[in-house]
Amino acid sequence: MPAPAVVTTVEALRGVVAGWRRNGQRVALVPTMGALHAGHLALVAEARRAANRTVVSIFVNPTQFAPHEDLATYPRNLEGDLGALSPTDVDLVFAPQVGEMYPEGASTVVTVGGPSEGLESVARPHFFAGVATVVAKLLIQCAADVAVFGEKDFQQLAVVRRMARDLSIPTAILGLPTVREPSGLALSSRNAYLSAEDRARASGLHAALTDAAGAIGSGQPAVEALTRAAARIEASGFTLDYVELRDAETLQPFDPSSGRPGRLLAAARIAGVRLIDNVPVTIAPGIA
Ligand code: AMP
Repeated sequence: MPAPAVVTTVEALRGVVAGWRRNGQRVALVPTMGALHAGHLALVAEARRAANRTVVSIFVNPTQFAPHEDLATYPRNLEGDLGALSPTDVDLVFAPQVGEMYPEGASTVVTVGGPSEGLESVARPHFFAGVATVVAKLLIQCAADVAVFGEKDFQQLAVVRRMARDLSIPTAILGLPTVREPSGLALSSRNAYLSAEDRARASGLHAALTDAAGAIGSGQPAVEALTRAAARIEASGFTLDYVELRDAETLQPFDPSSGRPGRLLAAARIAGVRLIDNVPVTIAPGIA
C-alpha cells in the first residue's frame, strides 16, 4: 500500500479537511509525536472505526519538554512512521515544523487546573501546559469530530478531556486501553532507550500495579497495597517517582466507598528512562 499523503502546513490541512466536510464526511484525529508503535496503530484503527477520514499528526512538541529532558534525542523518523502507517489506510499525515505550530511571537499558553495537579506535574511542572496548548491547537486546526488518545497517558487523557470541555472545542475525546508487550510492559516510544535486560526488568512496573489493584479491589487497605507495590517496583530496578490511587475521572484522591472507578498510577525511572503506567481499580461488590 502507498504511504499516506503528508501536509506540513495548517492551511493545507484545513483545505483537505474542508473538502471532506463538504462531502459530509466525519473526521478523526490521532495526535502523536511519531516513533510509531502498535499502541499508536491501535488508536488509528479506532479512529478509522469512528469516522470516515483519519488524520494522524506527527509533531515532537518542544513546549512539553523541560530543558533537561530528551527533546533533542527523542526518536524522529518520518519515513519509518509513514511506512508503519502505509497498511492502515490513514488518509492524511500532518507533520508540521516547529515554526508552523509556534510562529514567531507565539505567546498563548493553555493551562488546565484540576486533573493536571499532582502526579506527573510534580516531576514535570510545565508538561501539561505544553500538552494542552498543542492539543488545543491541533483540535482547532483539524476541526476533528473525534480525537483518539491512549489510556497509557492516563492523566494526559483526563487533562485533554477537561481542556476540550472548558474551551467548548466540539471534538469528542476517545480513550483507548494501553497496548502492552506480552510481558505486560506498556508500549512506549521511550522503551527504545532500554537495553533488552532493562526492558525485561521494566515489566515489573505493570506486574506490581496489577497485583496492587487486585488487592485493593478485594478489600485490602490501600496504604498496605501501595507500600508493597512501591517496594516491588524498586526491587525490579526502578527509582520510584510515585505510585498513587486516584478517582479515575477527577484524578482526586480515591474514596473506595464512593462506588466510583479508581485508577492506580505510577511513574518510575529505570536505567535513566522515565516510564509511566496505570491500571484500573474496581472494588468488588460488598467490599467498601
Ligand atoms: P506519544 O506519541 O507517545 O505522544 O503518544 C501519542 C498517543 O499514543 C497518546 O494518546 C498516547 O497515550 C498513545 N499511546 C502511547 N503509547 C500507547 C500504548 N502503549 N497503548 C495505547 N496508546 C498509546
